[in-house]
Amino acid sequence: MAGSEAAWQAATAGIRVVIHEMRPKVGTFAHRTGNLGEMVCSNSFRSDDHEQNAVGLLHWEMRAAGGLIMDMAQRHRLPAGGALAVDRDPFAESVTAALKAHPNISVSYEEITALPDDGHWIIATGPLTSGALAEAIAAETGTEALAFFDAIAPIVYHETVNMDVAWMQSRYDKGETVEEQTAYLNCPMTKAQYEDFIDALLAAEKTEFKEGETAGYFDGCLPIEVMAERGRETLRFGPMKPVGLTNAHDPQNKPYAVVQLRRDNALGTLYNIVGFQTKMKYGAQKTVFAMIPGLETAEFARLGGIHRNTFINSPTLLDDQMRLRSRPHIRFAGQITGVEGYVESAAMGLLAGRMAAAELQGRSLSPVPDTTAMGALVTHITGGADAKTFQPMNVNFGLFPPLDGVKGGRRGRKDRYKAYTDRAKADWQDWLAPQALAAE
Ligand SMILES: Cc1cc2nc3c(=O)[nH]c(=O)nc-3n(C[C@H](O)[C@H](O)[C@H](O)COP(=O)(O)OP(=O)(O)OC[C@H]3O[C@@H](n4cnc5c(N)ncnc54)[C@H](O)[C@@H]3O)c2cc1C
Repeated sequence: MAGSEAAWQAATAGIRVVIHEMRPKVGTFAHRTGNLGEMVCSNSFRSDDHEQNAVGLLHWEMRAAGGLIMDMAQRHRLPAGGALAVDRDPFAESVTAALKAHPNISVSYEEITALPDDGHWIIATGPLTSGALAEAIAAETGTEALAFFDAIAPIVYHETVNMDVAWMQSRYDKGETVEEQTAYLNCPMTKAQYEDFIDALLAAEKTEFKEGETAGYFDGCLPIEVMAERGRETLRFGPMKPVGLTNAHDPQNKPYAVVQLRRDNALGTLYNIVGFQTKMKYGAQKTVFAMIPGLETAEFARLGGIHRNTFINSPTLLDDQMRLRSRPHIRFAGQITGVEGYVESAAMGLLAGRMAAAELQGRSLSPVPDTTAMGALVTHITGGADAKTFQPMNVNFGLFPPLDGVKGGRRGRKDRYKAYTDRAKADWQDWLAPQALAAE
């Protein structure tokens, strides 16, 4: 994500770029192809609401800056209510094709195993940075690379879901077209079924942590069994909440809990179980998920999983230009800098690409306004965050400076978010304008 966007931005500014990509020669456990811009888990870039949602605002800012990832996402968009979900393979193929077709870009398929001594570099090797490079980074920074754990949600084949039990409906009937209405499948549970399911989840065999690894989950991606451990009702108020849904097979009876599946490809042949990332062992997953009404005989295109996520302590290691303080010819971008998510990673790639291009062309780039989603994120990772407790961060309005003259409590949340996004859009356009002039 970050590397693709960084290359695109720098090349578009007139810089010659070489992308070094280790796949398909060297794989990771999560990537399946050799494509650039491959989405490793969910097929969603999350909310596209640029007035009320910080990640939607980030979409808007990336589009305004001619972002490749957002452009291709738009072209391969799938119906998913207010979310920007995409058909993952055509999306990644188009990202790859666009980069390869750019006259300033070449792609070299090789693993980088050491920190380069000269040239200008952007390291955007992500949460699954290969071992040799991760060791080189740890040796240079003098710190252990930090780690936490993320888990992958399972995907089922639609044709194996029992539609006499499950039904199609988006929560609160969002969406007008048939396609939007078929974006979600729902599996209902009675109270007894829910209680049995929680018991099975708690008893299921899980992947063990290796010695020295800490189970510091990122809260937005908690495995379901960890949620269940926090309380028997936690899932019913989280991914299994029954609100805004009516069982088409039994409209009079409100389900006690609902498991929701989201369409995962344009063909509608695959659905992922929303919020069901897990570290249960594969055998246990099959047994436990078969307890979900409608999925008794479901077949899985992919089971859930667990992975290590590597990121550096950016607040101490990077300057405000995203350069490694100890080796300023190297920038970092993407999830390895301690942002979290496809969109945030691509966004940091966009900034790194522009910053590198400006430096190479001898142009001065004013600091990214921290009132924008881009600026709020980069300010957070390069200094705003407390280095001692630094953890990967999604973009959110909490990172934005307060609004002048707005008395917090007296204004509604909707108005406040709208004011944040209006201010951000104006400031982002002001930041982009001189760069557009320089390119002319
Ligand atoms: C299993 C998993 C599931 C995730 N699920 C989601 C999700 O559902 N939604 C979400 O928003 N985010 C998710 N994330 C988090 C994150 O948003 C993605 O990993 C995202 O792709 C990060 O973007 P990136 O550009 O930083 O890294 P990547 O997209 O992973 O790109 C890094 C690239 O560097 C290459 N590479 C690594 N080491 C080397 C080397 N030494 N030499 C050459 N090339 C190298 C890799 O092959 C890869 O192509 C998930 C992460 C993981 C690991």
